[in-house]
Amino acid sequence: MTKKIIVAVDGYSSCGKSTIAKQLAKYAGYTYIDTGAMYRAVGLWTRRNGLIVGENVDEGKLKANLSNLQLSFHRLDDGTQHIFIGEEDVESQIRTLEASNDASLVSTIGFVRRRMVAMQQQMGEQKGIVMDGRDIGTVVFPNAELKIFVFARPEVRAQRRFLELTQKGEQTTYDEVLKAVEERDYRDTHRAESPLRQAEDAILLDNSDLTPEQQLNKAIELLEKATK
Ligand code: C5P
Repeated sequence: MTKKIIVAVDGYSSCGKSTIAKQLAKYAGYTYIDTGAMYRAVGLWTRRNGLIVGENVDEGKLKANLSNLQLSFHRLDDGTQHIFIGEEDVESQIRTLEASNDASLVSTIGFVRRRMVAMQQQMGEQKGIVMDGRDIGTVVFPNAELKIFVFARPEVRAQRRFLELTQKGEQTTYDEVLKAVEERDYRDTHRAESPLRQAEDAILLDNSDLTPEQQLNKAIELLEKATK
């Protein structure tokens, strides 16, 4: 591989975006950035501060206080990347069903998105980055050299997510997870601010019927082509 590029990986929730983005980053020796983790951490912090009641976010207070939130990524000794709020590693706290929903709520707010997008653009200044999210190819890096839009059918995604959650000991049912997946899809695609959509120049990668290995091979092929 010759030149360093920006790889934007977008798609619906639980479609395997982060798996493919992490694997590509490893393959290319690039930095991987999980922007979903950033919105999840904002959601967690907002709820902890009492600014989410039920499904309602107190936007006024959030706006006044958001500059107090210090987000950063740290690579641990085992090579995994964790997100921190201040000095606290919140990587496992942000992976619950509640945190997913809170992330989805705060991510509809314009001033939250603007702050996250500015941070993300800064992280990509040096290129050599694989970033996954919802708006990376459309808003954060519209000029990314490679844009991949990952897709899987909702039932496939719900089944994968259900297994993940129950393996972690979370009490839930397949139907509940499917409902949450569909609700998040709806919110992500219908919000006024940066709704999820495939960029015109993004390449669709439907992994509903692919093994992880087949998916990775396809992605590597795309990366090799883009960096030639
Ligand atoms: O990707 P993940 O499921 O971790 O993202 C959590 C939530 O954060 C999503 O439901 C979505 O609403 C939001 N998100 C976003 N823009 C991104 C990444 C995530 O709005 N770039």
